[in-house]
Amino acid sequence: MALRTLTIDLERGHARQQLPATVERDYLGGRGVIAWLLWNHLPPDTPPMAPENLLIFAAGPLAGTNAFASGGFVVGTRSPLTGAIGYGWAQGHWGAQLRRAGYDVLVVRGQAPEWVYLYIDGDHVRLRSAERLRGLDTVATAAALRAEHGDTTTTICIGPAGESEASYASIVAEGRYMAEPAGAGLVMGFKHLKAVAIRGGSSIIPPDERRLALALDIIRRRVDTSPLAAGIGELGSAHFLGRAVEVGALTEQNGSSGDLDEQIAFARAAFAARPKHSRGCAGCPMPCYFDLPTRSGDSLPVPDLEVVAGFGARCGIKSLDTLAKLAQRCLRLGLDPVATSAAIAFMMECQDRGLAPSRTLPWGDEDAVLAVIERLATRQEKRDILSLGVGEMQEVFWGSNAFAPQVKGLAMPPLDPRALTGFALALATAPIGGDHRYAMYFDELVNEPPAWLPEQAAEPHSTQHKVARLIWHERFAAVLDGAGLCRRLGLMGYQVSPGELLAIITAATGVTLSGGDMARIGERIVTLERLFAQRYADNGGADELPQRWSTEPLAEGRAAGFTPPLPELLAEYYRRHGWSRTGEPTAERLAELGIKV
Ligand code: SF4
Repeated sequence: MALRTLTIDLERGHARQQLPATVERDYLGGRGVIAWLLWNHLPPDTPPMAPENLLIFAAGPLAGTNAFASGGFVVGTRSPLTGAIGYGWAQGHWGAQLRRAGYDVLVVRGQAPEWVYLYIDGDHVRLRSAERLRGLDTVATAAALRAEHGDTTTTICIGPAGESEASYASIVAEGRYMAEPAGAGLVMGFKHLKAVAIRGGSSIIPPDERRLALALDIIRRRVDTSPLAAGIGELGSAHFLGRAVEVGALTEQNGSSGDLDEQIAFARAAFAARPKHSRGCAGCPMPCYFDLPTRSGDSLPVPDLEVVAGFGARCGIKSLDTLAKLAQRCLRLGLDPVATSAAIAFMMECQDRGLAPSRTLPWGDEDAVLAVIERLATRQEKRDILSLGVGEMQEVFWGSNAFAPQVKGLAMPPLDPRALTGFALALATAPIGGDHRYAMYFDELVNEPPAWLPEQAAEPHSTQHKVARLIWHERFAAVLDGAGLCRRLGLMGYQVSPGELLAIITAATGVTLSGGDMARIGERIVTLERLFAQRYADNGGADELPQRWSTEPLAEGRAAGFTPPLPELLAEYYRRHGWSRTGEPTAERLAELGIKV
C-alpha cells in the first residue's frame, strides 16, 4: 500500500499525498521513509534552522493495529546539532493514533508567525493558537490539550526548553515518553509549533491478523521466561547499571577518572529496593518505564541508565533522590538528559581547568545543577553558552576539544567507550552523531545475548566479532524502526528474533518478504543515512572519537589502561559494509540497493 502523508506548511496550509508504492517496499515506513524523504525532498543545503527544513514524524505499518509495543513514532529532521539527519525515537501511543487518523507520515515545513499547535481529527486538520500553552511544561501541555479535545486525544509537544530554543530540547509524547536523542525539539521550537494533538480512530486490522497474533504470542512467551526481560521489567534501562559498573563503563568527572563513587556503583540495587509502579506502554509484556511514589503523593520517574550515568557518574551527583528529580525536570522541561548532562559535565571541567571564567558549577553541586536546568528552559536575553550544546561549546572554550564529549556534534552518552570496544565503534560510526542508540547496541551490557546474533559474543575489550555484531544491530534496528515495532523490546531486551520480525512485517503489510529482503531494507536505510552524513554533516561525516576517549587510557578503575583500537575496527567495519577503504558507500553497493545519488 502507498504510504499516506499529511504535509503541513505552517505559513500556507496543508496537503495530503500518497508516496510511490516503491517507498514502502524499499523502506517500509517510520524511520525508513523519513530517511527517504530527507534525501529526496529536502532542498540541497537547506540549513537546519531555516523554515524550509523538514520536520517529519512517521510511524511504521504495525502502528495502529492492536499489536503490543507498536504505538511509538520516529521524528527526523536535518539536525542543528550535527548537520546530518537527526532522529528522536519515542514510544507510547502517538504513532498509533497518527495511523488511525489516516496518516503514515506527517511532514511539517515553514515557520508559523505566532505559536501554534496542530490538531488532527481524521480529515479535520487545523492549526490553532498556542498562546495559552506557552510556558507550560510537557505534562501540563498534554493535560491542557486533553481537557480541550477529550480524553482520547494523544499529544506530542515541546516544553519550555524547546520554546527557548535550547539546542538539546526534546519532544515529549503524552507527557511521559521522551523522543531521544536531541535535535528535533529545537527545530520544532524554531517552527513555533508547540504541540501536535491527534484524536485517533479505531484500530487498524492488519492483512494477516492470525499470523501477527502467532508471532506476538511467541514473543510474549519468551518475555515471560527471559531473565533479561525480568531485569528490564524491574527497573527499565537502569537494569544495565549493574553490568556497566562491572565492566568499568561508568566513569567520573566527564570521563577523567575511573574511580567510581560507591553510591553510584550501588544505584541499581538501591532503586530496585524501592516501591515502584509501571508506566509502560499499553499491553506491553516488558514494561520498561517506572515511577517512584513520593511521600507527598506525587511521583518521580525511576532514572534511566543515561540519567544515572550522566548526572550521577559524569557530573558527580550522588543523591538518588536528586537523580530522580533531574529525570523528572528533564522530562517536564523537554530537555534531553544525555545532552544536558554532557553539557554540564563539560562546563564543570572547563571551569575546573580555568578555561571558563566563572566557577558556578563545581563537580557534584546538586543545587547548581538543578538551577542551571531551570535556567536552560528560560529564554535568556543573551544566549547562555550552556544552551549551545557540547558541539558548539567546544568552539567557545579554546583548547577543550580533546575532552568535549561529542561525536559529529551530538553529545556522547555517558557510558565510557574505553570499557567497551563495540560500543566505541558504534559511537564513532553512527551517522546521526555519537550515540549507541542509533544501532541500539546493548550487546556488551548483556550477560547472555540471544543465539540469533551473528558470531560468538566476546568480552568487552576484545575486538573479535564486534564489527559483525554492530552491523547486524544497525540493520536490525533500522528494520524495527521502519516496521514500527518497539526498539527497546526488540534490541535493548532482545525479545524479537529475525524470524518473528519477518513474520510481523509480512502480517502487517500483506507483502511476503524474505530474510534477504529484510536485511537489504535495513542496509538501504543505514546507507542512505551515511550518505546524508557524508554530504551534510558539519564534520564531513568523519568516524572518530574525541582524544580523551580514543587515545588517553584511564589510570584507575576496571577499564584502566585501555583505549579502543579504532583504526583496526574501522578498517574491518568499512570492508564488511562493502564500502571504500575510507568509508564511502561504493557505486556497486548503491546500485545493488537501488539508491540514486
Ligand atoms: S518495551 Fe518499553 S518502550 Fe517498548 S513498548 Fe514496552 S513499555 Fe513501551
